[in-house]
Amino acid sequence: MMEKFLSKRFKRGGPVAVAMVFIASCKTAGFHADSSAELKLWRQQDLAASEGAIDPMKAVAVFSAGGTQGGGIARLDAWVPAAVGCEGAQSAISLEADALGRRLRFYPAGSPRAGVLGFSALVPIPFETPASEITVPVRILCVGRQPLHVEARLVVTTASYPSETLTVDPRHVTPDAQSLKRIRLEKKRLGAVYRASVGRRLWNGPFDHPVSSIPTSEFGIRRVFNGQMQSFHQGKDYRAPEGTPVLAAGAGRVAFAGDLYMTGNTVILDHGLGLFTIYAHLSALKVEEGKEVPKGTLLGLSGMTGRASGPHLHFGVNLSGLKVDPNDLLRVAR
Ligand SMILES: [Zn+2]
Repeated sequence: MMEKFLSKRFKRGGPVAVAMVFIASCKTAGFHADSSAELKLWRQQDLAASEGAIDPMKAVAVFSAGGTQGGGIARLDAWVPAAVGCEGAQSAISLEADALGRRLRFYPAGSPRAGVLGFSALVPIPFETPASEITVPVRILCVGRQPLHVEARLVVTTASYPSETLTVDPRHVTPDAQSLKRIRLEKKRLGAVYRASVGRRLWNGPFDHPVSSIPTSEFGIRRVFNGQMQSFHQGKDYRAPEGTPVLAAGAGRVAFAGDLYMTGNTVILDHGLGLFTIYAHLSALKVEEGKEVPKGTLLGLSGMTGRASGPHLHFGVNLSGLKVDPNDLLRVAR
């Protein structure tokens, strides 16, 4: 019944991203979806339509359609029937899983229907990940009970990022010895910032764009500065004349607010569970380190401090120590 239902969904959607659903009873099925809205619809319908097909004592884990290429973010959703254990107390249930060399950090999320507890985890996909299929075992734990095992499968597609050429101040392409020393110290300091993420989710619901203007450069573009190839673009740029208000994309704590050699005046927000957003090249800072800020808080004003060829906002995302695509954050985080 489920296969029939899934193939119907597949015909209506386009074969863009691929996600798989695995059920603990080894009853498996695959589907394609072309947007997160489609996926959401499918999820709700699946659970509603498969009342008899899914054993009420089995848990389900599903990868969202986001982040199916290197540099992206995927969301892993796990649905645990309340009857499974812990008397339905969500806080007493913990989930464990590793994917692509990283421990996942689950948080309580929306429930698709009564009697089912929802958990989610954001999964960073390393930039150089080749096209592959990855099976992720998930353990669902409750004190005094046998752990429950489910599997989810993620299909990583081939990444295809274009390249672009930029001209900037030569000292930012070939820094002198003193600047290199500064860059090294700042890297160390930022490493400590990224390791000290709050152990709970500070964000609440989906993230927003930090400015409401046109994106001018996307994540992953391979960049050539002054004729020299230098890594890839680790964030998303927006058009922003000097002085444009830059707002918190989601609720978090100000983990860093200061001047850095490459990114100029920079604000870094810690959203908890290893998730950070970065706002760079600001002309002015409007928040202090340590403060908790709701989504939409004024963080600073846009500018062109640090390595910038003109005024704009650089918006970055760091998840579990990896720079990942902000578009995926906007699409899959909730
Ligand atoms: Zn940028």
